[in-house]
Amino acid sequence: MKYPTATVNKKRVAILGSTGSIGTQALQVIREHNTILEVEVLTANNNVDLLIKQAVEFKPNVVIIANEFYYDQVQSALSAFDIKVYSGQKAIEWAVQMDTVDIVLTAMMGYSGLIPTIKAIEAGKPIALANKETLVVAGDLITQLAKEKGVNIYPVDSEHSAIFQCLVGEFHNPIEKIILTASGGPFRGKKREDLINITKEQALKHPNWEMGAKITIDSASLMNKGLEVIEAKWLFNLKPQQIEVWVHPQSIVHSMVQFADGSVKAQLGLPDMKLPIQYALMYPSRIPSSSPRLDIKSCSNLDFELPDLETFKNLGLAYEALNSGGNMACILNAANEIAVSSFLEDRIGFLQMTELIEFCMGNISFIKNPVLEDYIQTDTETRIIAKEKINTLFLQKN
Ligand code: MG
Repeated sequence: MKYPTATVNKKRVAILGSTGSIGTQALQVIREHNTILEVEVLTANNNVDLLIKQAVEFKPNVVIIANEFYYDQVQSALSAFDIKVYSGQKAIEWAVQMDTVDIVLTAMMGYSGLIPTIKAIEAGKPIALANKETLVVAGDLITQLAKEKGVNIYPVDSEHSAIFQCLVGEFHNPIEKIILTASGGPFRGKKREDLINITKEQALKHPNWEMGAKITIDSASLMNKGLEVIEAKWLFNLKPQQIEVWVHPQSIVHSMVQFADGSVKAQLGLPDMKLPIQYALMYPSRIPSSSPRLDIKSCSNLDFELPDLETFKNLGLAYEALNSGGNMACILNAANEIAVSSFLEDRIGFLQMTELIEFCMGNISFIKNPVLEDYIQTDTETRIIAKEKINTLFLQKN
């Protein structure tokens, strides 16, 4: 295989969340390109068996199991190897700052990505950002800090990678708007009343993408697209009214940019996260990939329609949070994380997720210019209030 640039040193990657969907696909990318990429750090929360298996194959310098309960198990399984094993959140915050880390892939779930991402940026590490919640919670702080430290954030989310790819060579040209495409999820075309008794099994069946449970539920409720609107605002420095969402059920056009002269650029491909992952890890190079190719002539229908905001209210709530600014998107995110985990535990219904988020957005103290401590406090407070609300109100209704 021939690479576009001579590579003397391998790029050393820290993968935060290596046992999740993005983490495992990132390891496939590294396995395929092991002459230019190598694993320096692997972290996981609870999936001990897979973490050990990955460590044995990729021989990272450091392995961290976030849940300290599993430390002994991981340590003894890897004792025959020259691999340092640690546990706990603090270890993750330390590892992303190691001199031997060249890039940090943030692929952990939800709010937990925030502090490690800040630590990595503080140490000047480029970020391959798969954890969109980090920008949703504290996009202003993160982008400001990245600017101060001269750190690049490379999007891994397929839509944002598409926009990023469309913007290469265009960074000084004014953007009129961007169009984030959405598959519409498994309930596209359904009305609100059809969604009352949706089960988690139905919501977990995504038509196009294989993903983790949280993001699959977010896709079914269109909250994923809402979070992506907020993510796009921070990544590309846009106003809310410059960000449109179009439903595109085939998931071939991954997103589009319309420039000041009216020209529209789009990035197309099969729904395969390995491409955005490797683009983020190797930017600005395009390196070979063995993934299946898109056959455009077989795409006779590429459909686009506006989303149904009456049925999928979460998308509207995300725009509302973006327009409010301050800590509102942090409230939206924390309420949504509690809503999704409670839905997955059969404690609340599909539509009650939206009710819960709306309730939290209306009842948690709004802070216009939050600092990091305010975001941490807001996240904690929102989770407490959301859980109380579920216990006192929703369960009585059922
Ligand atoms: Mg996406």
